[in-house]
Order: sequence, then structure tokens, then C-alpha cells
Amino acid sequence: MIALAPTLFLFSAFMLLLLCAFIYVIWRSDEEARELCWWAAAFLMAGSSAFCFAFRNQIESLSIVLGNALMLWSCGFLWTGAAVFADRPLRSRSALLGGLVWLSGLWTQDIHLRTAAIAAIAAIYEIMTAYELFSYNRDQNGRLVLARVAAWATALQAGLDVILSVSVPFLEIDAAHFTSSSFTKYRWLELSCYTAVLGFTLIALSKERLASRREIAAMSDPLTGVANRRAFDRAIERATKSASADQTSAVLVFDLDNFKDINDRFGHAVGDHVLTVFGETATRNIRASDTLARIGGEEFAALLYPADQKIALAVAERIRLAFIEEASFLAEGQATVSVGVALVEGRAPDYRETTRAADAALYRAKATGRNRVVFAGS
Ligand code: GH3
Ligand code: MG
Ligand code: MG
Repeated sequence: MIALAPTLFLFSAFMLLLLCAFIYVIWRSDEEARELCWWAAAFLMAGSSAFCFAFRNQIESLSIVLGNALMLWSCGFLWTGAAVFADRPLRSRSALLGGLVWLSGLWTQDIHLRTAAIAAIAAIYEIMTAYELFSYNRDQNGRLVLARVAAWATALQAGLDVILSVSVPFLEIDAAHFTSSSFTKYRWLELSCYTAVLGFTLIALSKERLASRREIAAMSDPLTGVANRRAFDRAIERATKSASADQTSAVLVFDLDNFKDINDRFGHAVGDHVLTVFGETATRNIRASDTLARIGGEEFAALLYPADQKIALAVAERIRLAFIEEASFLAEGQATVSVGVALVEGRAPDYRETTRAADAALYRAKATGRNRVVFAGS
């Protein structure tokens, strides 16, 4: 036998308010995750809504009017949180619209129409929430597994609400005993399960993204956005581990020419801009599986894995020419780059030695006039 409705409502209220407190505390410890603030507010409203319903038999109109409005605002805030999470513009007025429509007179309608309308409005918010989470996950190439879990949970709830909103006219709902009806009990039981799963998933999701953002920040150069030396060393470690006897790979070392002069003549800000342009140009000219890193002030390195001599030299030359073109509007078109290229092969490739060879080739490129590509073997 299922618990009596008021008990279920009070239990739901307790659980939702506890989740709200959890989310709020986590948000306070990391205010960077602004979505948690919206989600804490959503759970506060959902919990308050359940609390209102627990007293439906005592203060009927207040619980019906306010309880349902709070529930719809909670759906709106969940959606707003998802939009904030996905870095999309804030539409807080739209988040309040569902509850306002209800307050504007929908609550005076027949119980069938009311139930169908509430389910339909909730479904609209849930579909939009699922959309935000699904599209965010797609933009991130599916890196955040929990975004998919939260999106699916919300999409399933949206499906249930759509089914409910169209089937309400065929359900027998007794307005006089609505609170204690089986319909209400099973609906709340289902909603309690959904909100519990969603609450914990959203907390974990926010944490998962924060960890992933911190990892990316620790691995990238803040000025140019390309990988840093630590990430480059990791890429070399990975390439060393997966090396095979018949595959060669290449290390390209880049050093911008007369960069001190560019800084002195045009200022540090222009120098920074030139560095950024180089990072963007080189990234565009390598494969997604290759690694480009800023390994020093105006020094960059690329690991092309796998690549033979012909490919490595072609990529180096392509980057050199593209950079001259892309930076032509900066520093009076004086920005050029010298490149040293070296190859490595075998089951236990020595990348340290290869990088030294590429450095030596770069030195020769500088000594023979700059703005050129020199191969270590030549
Ligand atoms: P070469 O052609 O021989 O490489 O000459 P160069 O002037 O490029 O070499 P040098 O090593 O003498 O100068 C490098 C300059 O890069 C000096 C330093 O001020 C500048 N630099 C290093 N990091 C940054 C940075 O983050 N931003 C800017 N704007 N300049 C930087
Ligand atoms: Mg240098
Ligand atoms: Mg230089």
C-alpha cells in the first residue's frame, strides 16, 4: 500500500529542500558555477511547492494556487540553469512565464484542464532543458557523460508530461478527493524519483565540468589558448607509448623572428597579438590529432604523429607562409617565423633527442637568414 499523500508531499518537500541546501552549499564553495545558483532556487521552489501540497486539505486555495505556480517556476528555473550552464543568454522572464500564466486565471478552470495545462507547461520547460543539455553535450563532443544522463532524464520526464497532458481528459479525476487519489500519489512518487535523480545528476554534472575546465586550464597557455609545455610533454609521453616500429613522427620547433624588435617598435600588446595569430594559424594548419604548444616566450612546438619527412616539411612550410599572410596587417608585415624539423621512428623513440635535433635545425634556420624551414637530416 502506498503512503498517504500528505506524508508523500512532506517527504518530497524534505528531500527537495535538502537537495536545494546541497546545491547551494556547493555553489557557495565555487561561485564560478553560476548554474548551481539557479538550480538551488529551482529545488527551493519545488520543495516549497511540495510543502504547499501537504496542506492542501487545510488551506486549499493557497496550496493549489501557490503550490502549482511554484512548481512551474521551479521548471522554469531548472531550464534557466541549463541555459546558464550551456553559456547561453539568460531569459529569466521566460522562466517566470509558466507560473504567471497559471496565476493569471488558469487555476480557476476545471480540474481536467488544469492538470493538462500544468503538465503541458512543465513539458515545454523540460523539452527546452533537455535541448540545452543535449546541444551543450554535442558542442563538447560528448565529453560530459552526466550532461547526457541529465538530458535523457529530463527528456523522459517531458515525454511523460506530454502523454499526461493529452490523456487527462480521459482520466477519472475526482476534484473532491484529488489529494488522496491514486493519480496524485503515483504522480508525486514519479516526480519525487525524477527530481532526486535529476538533483544528484546536476550536482555531479556541475562538478564534472569544473574539474574538466580546470584540467584544460592547467594544460593550456592563457595568452594564445594553445597547449602549454606540460600538455606537450604529455602528448610526447602518449606518442612514445603507442609508437610502432614502422611509423615515423615529426617534431617541429618554431621561433618567431626578431620578436624582441617587434615588441620594442610596436609595443608589447602588438607582440601578444602576433603570438595569438601564430597560435591560431598553426592550429588551423595541423590535424586535430596533432599537438601544437607554446613552449616558451615566442617559441612553439608541434608534434605530428604519425608523419613522414614529406608531410612534416609541407606542414612546416604551410604554417610559415600562412603566418606571413595572417600577420601581414600587424607590425608592418614584419612578423615571420623560422622552423626546425626533425623525425623520429622505432619502438622506443627518443623525443628528447629529436627535439634537440629540431632545435639545432632551427638554429641553422636563424643563422642562414631566418624566415625558413630547415630539416634536421639535411
Ligand atoms: P630571433 O629572430 O633570433 O629569434 O630574435 P628574437 O628577438 O625573436 O629573440 P629573443 O629571444 O632575443 O627575443 C624574444 C623576445 O620575446 C623577448 C621577449 O621580450 C619576448 N617575449 C617573450 N614572451 C612574450 C610575451 O608573452 N609577449 C610578448 N609580447 N613578448 C614576449
Ligand atoms: Mg626565442
Ligand atoms: Mg625569436
